[in-house]
Amino acid sequence: MFFKNVLVPYDESEHARSALHIALGMVGADADATIHLVTIVPTGALSTAALTGGGFDDPFAASDFAEYDSILGSILHRARSDMEGLIEDARDEAACTIKANAIVAPSPVEGIAEYVSSHDIDLVVMGRRGLGALRGMLGSVSFGVLRSVEVPVLTVK
Ligand code: ATP
Ligand code: MG
Repeated sequence: MFFKNVLVPYDESEHARSALHIALGMVGADADATIHLVTIVPTGALSTAALTGGGFDDPFAASDFAEYDSILGSILHRARSDMEGLIEDARDEAACTIKANAIVAPSPVEGIAEYVSSHDIDLVVMGRRGLGALRGMLGSVSFGVLRSVEVPVLTVK
């Protein structure tokens, strides 16, 4: 297959699952290909107070940082184990390598764009929509990724 490093951004939605399914159909039989299943945990999901620690004089700063670390740790842990389950199901039928990762970034779009450039990604396969409740053609993350990466992006229902 032409594509060797395929990114599937994963937000726990059915749309993202079908993106993984399509990616497997495209490169699953290629032992030289890698599918990167990646969840971006946006820093905005955590409170600003916990992030800043409240400032230099703040006696609660240290404990806030500790709390931030443990919240982040458990979010990343949950995301990773969820993806591991998905990968277990997919591995039986796939010859390609499948990697799972959960990373922190200012926003999903920035995290995905950064992952694309730092991991030599040559194709992104993602849902047209995700967990958001709004109806419409395209979610904001898909829209932002289409605008910000240079590699081909396949959006799926
Ligand atoms: P919105 O978030 O704008 O309300 P939505 O949730 O319906 O709309 P998007 O968030 O754009 O739509 O989701 C489209 C696709 O983007 C998902 O199917 C998934 O592939 C990817 N995606 C969305 N959020 C994340 C995330 N935090 N990490 C990784 N991938 C994501
Ligand atoms: Mg969304």
